[in-house]
Amino acid sequence: VDSEETMILKDRRPIVISGPSGVGKGTLVTMLMDKHAKVLGKKASHTTRQPREGEVHGQHYFFVKKEEYDIMRDGDQFIEYNNFNGNDYGTSKKVVEGIIASGKIPVMEMDMHGIQQLKDNGYPARFIFIAPPELTELQRRLQGRGSDDEATIEKRLEIAQRELEQAKTEGFHDKILVNDDLATTYKQLENYIFGIEETDEEP
Ligand code: 5GP
Repeated sequence: VDSEETMILKDRRPIVISGPSGVGKGTLVTMLMDKHAKVLGKKASHTTRQPREGEVHGQHYFFVKKEEYDIMRDGDQFIEYNNFNGNDYGTSKKVVEGIIASGKIPVMEMDMHGIQQLKDNGYPARFIFIAPPELTELQRRLQGRGSDDEATIEKRLEIAQRELEQAKTEGFHDKILVNDDLATTYKQLENYIFGIEETDEEP
């Protein structure tokens, strides 16, 4: 029995998912949302990056012009923000508050700098890291996606290497999942989110 009703979320802290680009985060989050839309609310970030093929404004991201982004940042409208590989990204306070107000748990995607900012501010959240089985596999996936040129892929791999090292730092994440097989990783993710407390920290 996999119905939404049987899965109750005890831990009400927002969920933060990170991991290198190409690792399958987006797919995992989409799977979570498809199944648990009544409980979880995906937060779309604001970004100045160009949309990839198939990305929908307001769903994957709010694609905004640099001027609009700067106004939001200077107006203290972001919980955290970062420039990643030449593009700006930020988590809007209003978007997250809207999800909480609707009675759902926000699920947010961000990079390590974003996590650091949340931690520095004592923002309560559960931090999950999705790791690739190997960097060569990640490279294969990024190339297969075909949305980034070689130079961009190189840079993303460099960042991925750093993120992986940082993720291994004790206690930085509440949970690290290696995405070897999508179905298995999804189950682990779901179990962690809805299942027995596996974190060391108390909320
Ligand atoms: P991509 O361009 O591949 O969609 O995302 C690049 C990186 O930016 C990923 O590591 C992604 O998790 C991160 N990212 C997406 N949204 C945000 C955000 O709102 N804040 C921060 N700090 N990083 C984000």
